[in-house]
Amino acid sequence: MKNKLVKTLVFENQFSLSILDTTEMVNRAIEIHDLSPVASAALGRTMTVCTYMSSGLKSQKDKLYVTVAGDGPLGKITVCGNGELQMRGAVDNPYVDIPLKPNGKLDVGGAVGKGRLTVVKSMGLKEPYSGSSELVNGEIAEDFTKYYFYSEQQPIAVALGVKIGVDGKCVGAGGVILAALPFATEKNIVKVENIMKEFTDVSTKIQTLGVDGIIEKYFKEEITDEIVEYSPEYKCLCSKDYVKGILISLGKKELDDIIEKEGQVKVDCQFCEKKYIFSKEDVEELYK
Ligand SMILES: [Zn+2]
Repeated sequence: MKNKLVKTLVFENQFSLSILDTTEMVNRAIEIHDLSPVASAALGRTMTVCTYMSSGLKSQKDKLYVTVAGDGPLGKITVCGNGELQMRGAVDNPYVDIPLKPNGKLDVGGAVGKGRLTVVKSMGLKEPYSGSSELVNGEIAEDFTKYYFYSEQQPIAVALGVKIGVDGKCVGAGGVILAALPFATEKNIVKVENIMKEFTDVSTKIQTLGVDGIIEKYFKEEITDEIVEYSPEYKCLCSKDYVKGILISLGKKELDDIIEKEGQVKVDCQFCEKKYIFSKEDVEELYK
């Protein structure tokens, strides 16, 4: 199954509806980082909401950079994306393993802990936009709801879910997000609150119904605009030139020290499994 994001307007054009299936993206992240179930859920939920956030960027070239920096055992979650919905992400401690919550769910809030969520959007030549808010509970959905409300003055309702099977693979991941437009009426706000109660297990709904099935079952009668479909993907944009830029910023002295000790400079990309190796000659070349 391919990743999918579907957007349209609902409830008399007063709410923007986004439904995401990010199962494949989460499985790619699990494969790259060897994530534990709780780390998969934390990174997967963040990548899902960041895919939604990237779909709001004005141009395909605009970039998004999000960190969820909590004090829990998972450490920091980092997710990057762009207007083309090419997403990538990483966590500090991919192997973190903590007990399930009493209700049997993965304890994402316990793994993330308390801290801050920061969003940077870089848009062409303009100054990057940067916003930040304190985490509510580390469960990601509420944290981003608060972020949107205080930093972007946009009331949104967010349901996110990542379900991990017994083999450690993701069997269903995605989200349902309803964003209120400025003229949303009380009557429709109540409707949205009620419909969101259906998505406490959104990962199971993605697994069993898929994006189209969710629309059919819950939103068909309420759609008031055309449906636009996107194909997000896990894609790292690292390259040897990009890594060269990072190495140059470290300074020649630092690189010479590494060459002295290790014989080469090895750089592992944070977001994919690519490794970049620079020999003594390559390093000399950088400074020509
Ligand atoms: Zn990479």
